[in-house]
This record gives sequence, C-alpha cells and structure tokens, in this order.
Amino acid sequence: PEGVRLARFLAHAGVASRRHSEEIIHAGRVQVNGQTVTTQGVRIDPERDQISVDGKRIQPAKRKVYILINKPAGYVSTAYDPQQRPTVLSLVPPKIRQLRVYPVGRLDIDTSGLLLLTNDGDFALQLTHPRYSTQKHYEALVQGHPDAAALDALRHGVPIHEDDGGIYRTSPAEVRVLRQSENGTSLMLTLHEGHKRQVRRMLRAVGHPVRQLIRVGVGNLTLRNVAPGKWRNLTEAEVQQLM
Ligand code: URA
Repeated sequence: PEGVRLARFLAHAGVASRRHSEEIIHAGRVQVNGQTVTTQGVRIDPERDQISVDGKRIQPAKRKVYILINKPAGYVSTAYDPQQRPTVLSLVPPKIRQLRVYPVGRLDIDTSGLLLLTNDGDFALQLTHPRYSTQKHYEALVQGHPDAAALDALRHGVPIHEDDGGIYRTSPAEVRVLRQSENGTSLMLTLHEGHKRQVRRMLRAVGHPVRQLIRVGVGNLTLRNVAPGKWRNLTEAEVQQLM
C-alpha cells in the first residue's frame, strides 16, 4: 500500500508514542488536509498531505545525518555568517543542507580540519557538553621552540583569557613534539574540552603563538581519505561510538 499509516507518521514526527498517537487520532484531534480523521489505518503521504494535531501543523521527521568534513581555512563554521564569508555548509550539496545540518562545535575561520555536521541535537550535545569530554586532536605549528617548562605548563594547565574578561585554567592536556624546524615547532595536542580559541590561547599563554592549526581527529575519527573541502557520511558504528 501507498504512504504511511497516520499513527506511525505522528510517532516518527515525535508527537507521541505509536499507541498514544492512535488515541490522539481516536479523540478527534488530528486533521489530514483540514479534515478530522478518527479512524485508524488511514494512510497519508508525508510529502504532500498536511497533518495537524490540535490545529498545529506537524512536520515530517527528517532523516538523521552525520557528516565528517575537512574544513579548509577561510570558511566559517556557523550556519549563517553576517559578514557573508563562505560557510562550511556551502561545501555540502543542497540535498544535505535541506536536512538542516549544522556544525557540532566550532573551528575558527583560520583553523582547518575535522568538523562534524549533524541535524541530530542529542548527538551534537553529547559531543559538545563538557561532561562527555570527547578527545580532540590538534596539530599546531607554533613560533619558536617550546622548552620543557612550556610543554609541562601546557600539559598541566595554563590560565587563558576568555572573551568575557574572565580567566580560565585549562584542564590537563596531552602534548607531544612532532618536529622542529627553522619555521618553528609542530606539536600534537589532545584536549578534552573546547573553550573558544583554546589552543591558540594556550600556546600564546606560553609564548609560542600559533602559525597554523589543524584539527586532525575527534574521538577515533581522523581525516583519512577526506581531502580539504571534502566530506563523507559517518558509518553507523562511528556514530554509535561517539554517542
Ligand atoms: N582551538 C582553537 O584555538 N581554535 C580552534 O579552531 C579549535 C581549537
């Protein structure tokens, strides 16, 4: 048969459980294209038919999507930019944007690397809430050659200035020197938190400003096989692991 059963549609749209949706229909609270429907088993087309409960229009549930994108520098990680700079959403096709995906957390405009996009609010909250402390891995090219004291300070926590004028002491982080050259030093930092411009502020606090910053990993996810400006869907297993 065509379409979906009305109670099932209501349950998927988050109105109520399937059982309770049947009761709501029975009680005469549901209209299909303006007509009250009280019988069970009526089928509707979620794309075409207008469904309302107590006079309030119900939107069909959107498919949940989870995307890993390799953000290039120069793109903002907000859905809308008042200054009209390019957004990471411009890098995914319209059929994905239509599902109302948005970035999970932020990368600065001048930071590149791994960013997640989703339309699943629970997933976004899990990843951004301090309580869940998903690991974020950053590769930073900094000015100069941090000495042992500077590296230890980064590991134990340093005071950074926040936008509101406050000072925040960072939580313990893992810090490793990858390589040194006349251009400076490449460091790998693993953080369990994400305050605004945290990596840049930590490195400035120890006297080694960042020249280039790339987020190379979130949890177990890496940028492998995803070139700058490109994206892929997460697998179900990857989504489960992060939740
Ligand atoms: N820390 C920063 O300073 N910038 C980012 O974009 C991410 C982490």
